[in-house]
Amino acid sequence: MSSLFPALTGAPGDRVALRFGERSLTYAELAAAAGAVGGRIGGARRVAVWATPSVETAVAVVGVLLAGAAAVPLNPKSGEKELGHIVSDSAPGLVLAAAGDRLPGALAGLERLDVDPAARGPVPGAPDGSGAGDEDPALVVYTSGTTGPPKGAVLPRRALAHTLDALADAWQWTGSDVLVHGLPLFHVHGLVLGVLGPLRRGGSVRHLGRFSPEGVARELGDGATMLFGVPTMYHRLAEALPGDPALAGALGRARLLVSGSAALPVHDHERIAAATGRRVIERYGMTETLMNTAVRADGEARPGTVGLPLPGVELRLVEEDGSPVAAYDGESVGEIQVRGPNLFTEYLNRPEATAAAFTADGWFRTGDMAVREPDGSVRIVGRKATDLIKSGGYKIGAGEIENALLEHPGVKEAAVTGEPDADLGERIVAWIVPADPQDPPGADALADHVAARLAPHKRPRTVRYLDALPRNDMGKIMKRALTA
Ligand code: ATP
Ligand code: MG
Repeated sequence: MSSLFPALTGAPGDRVALRFGERSLTYAELAAAAGAVGGRIGGARRVAVWATPSVETAVAVVGVLLAGAAAVPLNPKSGEKELGHIVSDSAPGLVLAAAGDRLPGALAGLERLDVDPAARGPVPGAPDGSGAGDEDPALVVYTSGTTGPPKGAVLPRRALAHTLDALADAWQWTGSDVLVHGLPLFHVHGLVLGVLGPLRRGGSVRHLGRFSPEGVARELGDGATMLFGVPTMYHRLAEALPGDPALAGALGRARLLVSGSAALPVHDHERIAAATGRRVIERYGMTETLMNTAVRADGEARPGTVGLPLPGVELRLVEEDGSPVAAYDGESVGEIQVRGPNLFTEYLNRPEATAAAFTADGWFRTGDMAVREPDGSVRIVGRKATDLIKSGGYKIGAGEIENALLEHPGVKEAAVTGEPDADLGERIVAWIVPADPQDPPGADALADHVAARLAPHKRPRTVRYLDALPRNDMGKIMKRALTA
């Protein structure tokens, strides 16, 4: 297949490709440094990358892809046990890291190679990835582990190329775009969309190191055009906006504000729109499928919808028995199944899990439940396993109750789960982080607040108060920790 990164040789060599804090690399420098990595990894099929938010991580992954091998990004915050599992599962030939990074014991058995972003000059025989085939693995990315132990999704080169080009189509994403990035680099969102995306287009990425509203305002005020973030980041922006006209101005000028990885609460969407005149657009994807849907740059960003299937992606909603849902009426709920060139090939070393994830006719079962609006837009109701509560004969999505609770001024964070109940089958339980711990809103007040906005049967029966919700590194709420 042709190179994943035509811009490495096609973009003006002095254009900035990457900037992480004070450190930046032009396209010419990136091509030289990544070529040097590619030339040094030998015949390794899989190469682990110690994925700190750094120039070295970007150079390492591009270098591995140029060599036609597969990168296995490792989360530096993972514990020894999880890293040990990933290393023994993926059996990488070596690990790439920045000079000076201290690697944990779980990686001690691997040959280590330090990435030198300053490596210069043509590397004899430096590879350009053009020898690799479309179906050759490009990345093995471990899922977030929100619902169970992380599984290694094997992503072929064509899935990366497809998803990035489909997003470029949806978002009119070009080499003139400059992306503000504050996400970790060991998942699809931060690595594939946030780093490989700009590099495939020939644009620039500026990484904040640590996300902050000040950093976002600074970069968007200084020529950046787009922001990719997770809902917890947009929540922080929504909280910061009232006292910060410079931030409101900067967000208002951005070409594109994009949220993904979890549902963006409607309350945050609306507060940002009111303060900046800009609507955050959502896209929906998974480690296994890369991106499935997106609100288009010229589309209508309605709160709670994740847009239309991307070009080339087939998407359907099915009932429990596999039959298609009755209608695109905004109400008939079904599981999302997808098919297309954006999909992974398998879970590494897990043929049974892989087989179980697909239907006989090749559709991937996402485990996410959704409705479709009459215009085809997808609205996610939640995960089948944790967000669909069967109570009193109704199927109730946790998300809309969470959205209603978040509109209560006394609620800072909210999660809704179902618990077994002798009468109802399941009982709706609200987990609340109060805005003022000294003066939490009462259970009856919260239940009335929900019932007034939704319907009486969606009223939480039990309210539990917490100091914080359990979240993973992507800011996703770990519901299995609540219900365990
Ligand atoms: P695991 O599969 O290990 O339990 P995970 O599903 O959280 O973890 P990811 O592949 O990182 O791992 O996340 C994909 C999931 O994130 C989707 O299946 C969906 O539930 C959720 N998601 C992603 N984008 C959105 C969005 N825009 N709105 C709602 N949910 C989203
Ligand atoms: Mg998943």
